[in-house]
Amino acid sequence: MYYKSTRGDKNLITSSLAIIKGIADDGGLYVPVEIPKIDKPIEELKNMTYHELCFYILKKFLTDFNDDELYGCIQRAYDDKFEKDSIIGISECDNMFFLELYHGPTLAFKDMALSLLPHLLKVSIKKNGIDKKIVILTATSGDTGKAALEAFADVEGTNIIVFYPEDGVSFIQKRQMITQNGNNTFVVGIKGNFDDAQGGVKDIFNDKDFNDKLLKNGYMLSSANSINIGRLLPQIVYYVYGYLDLVRKNKITPKDSINIVVPTGNFGNILAAYYAKKMGININKLICASNENNVLYDFFKTGVYDAKRELKLTSSPSMDILISSNLERLLYEISNKDTEVVKMLMQGLNRKKEYVIDSRMNENLSDFYSGYVLEDEVLYSIFEVYKTYEYVIDTHTAVAYSVYKNYVKDTMDDRKTIIASTASPFKFSNSVLEALNVDTKDLDDFKAVECLSKLSNIKVPKRIKELENKPVIHKISCNKKDMKNIIESYLEV
Ligand SMILES: *Cc1c(COP(=O)(O)O)cnc(C)c1O
Repeated sequence: MYYKSTRGDKNLITSSLAIIKGIADDGGLYVPVEIPKIDKPIEELKNMTYHELCFYILKKFLTDFNDDELYGCIQRAYDDKFEKDSIIGISECDNMFFLELYHGPTLAFKDMALSLLPHLLKVSIKKNGIDKKIVILTATSGDTGKAALEAFADVEGTNIIVFYPEDGVSFIQKRQMITQNGNNTFVVGIKGNFDDAQGGVKDIFNDKDFNDKLLKNGYMLSSANSINIGRLLPQIVYYVYGYLDLVRKNKITPKDSINIVVPTGNFGNILAAYYAKKMGININKLICASNENNVLYDFFKTGVYDAKRELKLTSSPSMDILISSNLERLLYEISNKDTEVVKMLMQGLNRKKEYVIDSRMNENLSDFYSGYVLEDEVLYSIFEVYKTYEYVIDTHTAVAYSVYKNYVKDTMDDRKTIIASTASPFKFSNSVLEALNVDTKDLDDFKAVECLSKLSNIKVPKRIKELENKPVIHKISCNKKDMKNIIESYLEV
């Protein structure tokens, strides 16, 4: 299996090199030259543990890893850092199956891939004889940053630098990041929003002079954002696992298809579900759920991607995004791998913050259904799910649930549906309590966590509890234009 750029660079590279580089030299994203098929019967796959299934799927993509290397990475990634032996949880509510992807160390689904990435990277560096120190450079809308910090803290041969929008993340998210320990961690607030942070990071990746300077000083940049293929591939596994779990529990037969709903921001998580479908999992619709930042909804409806609008700050901050980077990989697929077209569209996005796809590409979007919801509806649905099922969901999952409800109204489709549950409600306690009509005026954020614990009958996760007394280590903030300088002074180059 080889990887190539979505923008036409002719080089074919191995999976390990794609993981190291993160982004292609022409600014494109790495994609597998073809998406491999699942080649074992469902009846056999359904008895696999999460680890075994992970190995089976990833082995098809990471063909330059030998069995021992890959299995070792998987064992080290998915260990008792996760609250559950099954790694993920699945909660059934009528036709809906909430795929709880938040039982890892930072309580968001980002842990699923980021727990694995440093191990894959370590093996990759060795394989390719790289003698540079790897600098992981990441922009975060809240959850990636912490998950990456946690994953890379004190990993030998790496530094990790995270930029987050100072006023665009939740209290708990911010607290998680600024209290991060580890000798190789560096966290900086940006005066701006997520797109500023992500745009700044992308510019740095594309700045050849800057990269040369780093190389001369023994450093090499890499990415822990979902533009890195090593982030994306592990996310395919849980969709396959979720589907198999429904078969295992006789909720469906292998002949039945399911829907998958994904609360979407950067389009990484739903793209992994799309890859699962391409691998042969019987998926009917991939339902792309957005909050008030409904760029993707407009795109699916009209074929016009228009980022020329104000970013709105919502109660689901990890989805407050206008430029969904991973859509580029979908454009590659729906254009039938036409890298010239992808390159042109991305140039349009860079120059005019807009692009339009043609009708042929539009027709290839029929795997998707797209919807968005307003803030009131998000909060109401948290209340509704709690009242109906005594089950508490977070604000991001609530976006997915609301869009799914609208989908059912719209289509009358009653087949079984997996809803990606992307964060623990404790990460967004204040918003969740507000939705449940609890007066939070006199509650500080940690009291709110306690209160939510009582209401939901779930113990406060240890990782949240310990935040209260952890010292703040990272106090720096900067403007977008100073990001490069700040990296230089941190790395002393
Ligand atoms: C990152 C994130 C999302 C969005 O996922 P993408 O892969 O960026 O589309 C949704 N919910 C939560 C809680 C997240 O952290």
